[in-house]
Amino acid sequence: MNPALTPVTGATTPALVLDDVTKTYGGTVAASSLDLTAAPGELVTLIGPSGCGKSTTLRLVAGLERPDAGTIRIAGDVVAGGRTWQPPERRRVGLVFQDHALFPHLTVAQNVAFGLDKMPRRERTARVGEVLELVRLGHLASRYPHELSGGEQQRVALARALAPRPAVVLLDEPFSSLDENLRAQVRADTVAVLRETGTTAMLVTHDQTEALSIGDRVVVMRDGVIEQADTPEKVFEAPATRFVASFMGDADFLPAHVRDALLTCEIGVVSTVPGWANCDVDVDVVLRPHEVALTLDPESKAHVVAVEYHGAFVLHTVQLASGRTLRSWQPHGVRHPVGTAVAVSVVPGITPTLLVGDEAVTQPPPPR
Ligand code: ADP
Repeated sequence: MNPALTPVTGATTPALVLDDVTKTYGGTVAASSLDLTAAPGELVTLIGPSGCGKSTTLRLVAGLERPDAGTIRIAGDVVAGGRTWQPPERRRVGLVFQDHALFPHLTVAQNVAFGLDKMPRRERTARVGEVLELVRLGHLASRYPHELSGGEQQRVALARALAPRPAVVLLDEPFSSLDENLRAQVRADTVAVLRETGTTAMLVTHDQTEALSIGDRVVVMRDGVIEQADTPEKVFEAPATRFVASFMGDADFLPAHVRDALLTCEIGVVSTVPGWANCDVDVDVVLRPHEVALTLDPESKAHVVAVEYHGAFVLHTVQLASGRTLRSWQPHGVRHPVGTAVAVSVVPGITPTLLVGDEAVTQPPPPR
């Protein structure tokens, strides 16, 4: 990493801490007792349905909203909490918005220099050059925003946010105004720059794949509450709640039973559940389409009710004898027509999530 580009953060001090932060608008609780920590260099993605409080969380960190309660620390300094209130310009945060929000009457270089007004002129010019090189836009320094593509505008916005060496960069749906072909490239470029500079970032998205693929940590919100904050693998493979299981990727739920460490449901034995010996409990099992196997079986009471071709894979929806449905990804060459009788099982070796009510359980519940 180039030391000149490194944001100034203590090695052990978290770059960002939200401690019991609450924000209400009238009767709406937009953020409810949020606890969240980002380590230096971490990329945290915030995801959840529209209105769940993602933007409010970002705006609280930026200083565009005041929390009703709780404390926010940036690089160890309290910026909101108790009697302390630091305005946005004193928070060492960089902002990147969906619409890029560049000044149309300023050149690329002037846009990037905007937040560096306190820097001596020579240093400022050098810094602008440095961050423009970082986003590979040095050759366009004297252009105006309307002379740039959407992707280039987004890179200018990122350069402007990084120029003052912020402790945290906040990105609010930064790729959603870009068309799909461009989005993957701009996303990869942005993440590469954040990584190269070791920048701590919090990025709001409504795209599940984006949240999982770029986040070191994924924060899933619902109704102002953090349902789970975990690695992408944990969020997808060990969702904490029914909501997280269904929101992050496709999931079907079947009533199931664990007896003496064996998990069974309508399709038969699903797996063993180590540690669940000597119990006899009802649960729901979460099954994802890549975990569900199909074989042709004219005797089976289950049959295909929908087939969707997705290119590399074909999504089959199967109705079981109970009327419940399960989805199954099949390789692109496999297409069982609607009406085909199929036997349904799970692929070997899965460790499915078990739910009691709406919560995932890893230990057998105490006997009632
Ligand atoms: P998201 O970014 O996840 O879509 P927001 O943080 O924008 O959600 O909003 C969370 C909740 O707070 C929503 O119910 C929204 O209507 C409400 N809200 C957000 N901003 C305001 C505001 N300025 N005034 C009143 N209600 C607001």
